[in-house]
Amino acid sequence: MKPWEAYIRKVEPYVPGEQPKLQKMIKLNTNENPYPPAPEVFQTMKDINIEKAKMYPDPTCEDLVKAIAENFSVGANQVFVGVGSDDVLGMAFLTFFNSHKPILFPDITYSFYDVWAELYQIPYKQPMLDESFKICKEDYYIENGGVVIANPNAPTSIYEDLDFIKDILEHNQDVIVIVDEAYIDFGGESAVKLIKEYDNLLVVQTYSKSRSMAGMRIGYAIGHPDLIKAMNNVKYSYNSYTMSQVAIETGVAAINAKDYFEETKEKIISTRERVKSSLRQLGFEFPDSRTNFLFVRHNLVSAKELYDALREENIFVRYFNKPRLDNYLRITIGTDEEMDTLILFLKNYLSR
Ligand SMILES: *Cc1c(COP(=O)(O)O)cnc(C)c1O
Repeated sequence: MKPWEAYIRKVEPYVPGEQPKLQKMIKLNTNENPYPPAPEVFQTMKDINIEKAKMYPDPTCEDLVKAIAENFSVGANQVFVGVGSDDVLGMAFLTFFNSHKPILFPDITYSFYDVWAELYQIPYKQPMLDESFKICKEDYYIENGGVVIANPNAPTSIYEDLDFIKDILEHNQDVIVIVDEAYIDFGGESAVKLIKEYDNLLVVQTYSKSRSMAGMRIGYAIGHPDLIKAMNNVKYSYNSYTMSQVAIETGVAAINAKDYFEETKEKIISTRERVKSSLRQLGFEFPDSRTNFLFVRHNLVSAKELYDALREENIFVRYFNKPRLDNYLRITIGTDEEMDTLILFLKNYLSR
């Protein structure tokens, strides 16, 4: 071993879903939106002045912050923006979880949380979801250094209502509670309306799923001005220019494209409901998803077998080789056409 090797920060990195470079495939493995960004985003891209690339972008991302604030009817001092919600969440962990008490998040949830906790050396505990993959709120009544809840949760797709979130907040008034709402637009009620009541609540959302902009890397947090200020202080101590000029400008266009947002969101929800009934008929079981994906298990055939068979057909879904999850597949809701192809394949495969 080289002497310096002992001083390397050792982390087990997060493993994202694969991005295959195939011409023809059905990609249902990373919960991307199957629809393109809003027409207004295309127009903004065309109009962007490339000359401006010689200058640094606005470090405060003022235009984007204002547009998001307006969309949610909150003050500009209540919005923090970052390079995808991964950047926002990572920054929030670094900013708020310094008590040396363990932070709490479920054993089955977005698998980046434990990676950040390890990276920043934040102690953490992971209360177990119950048999039906539900969060037991009583597990979050113990003393802790902060709470992180994905709502709806991933990869389970299960949504809890605002009374549940309120209960968690009532029992955790001395620490920051982060609610990760990556999937909230697909049928849940956002906790943004609770931030007036709870100054320790930080709600995090993303452009990657419901706004068809995963490649542009835009995420944001909404909370009390003191929380946003604290996060900005950390951001300016790390990298002032997190977001590119292109992300800022297209981000404004996307959040203002309200009709397109509603339309594509409704399309995905209606496709999801149709796919639920088709899959049920084929012998699949799954929690009642309020997301743009289904977390499914088949009553006869193993998840790994189905995953491999689908892959052969260039149909990509997500398989987690982890305890409690290894007989499930996470299937993103694509277009109607893509889902019909998936269902037809499964139907034939299961009736061999
Ligand atoms: C997709 C996802 C994110 C991260 O999304 P970004 O692309 O970084 O904005 C965060 N949390 C959950 C639960 C997600 O599913």
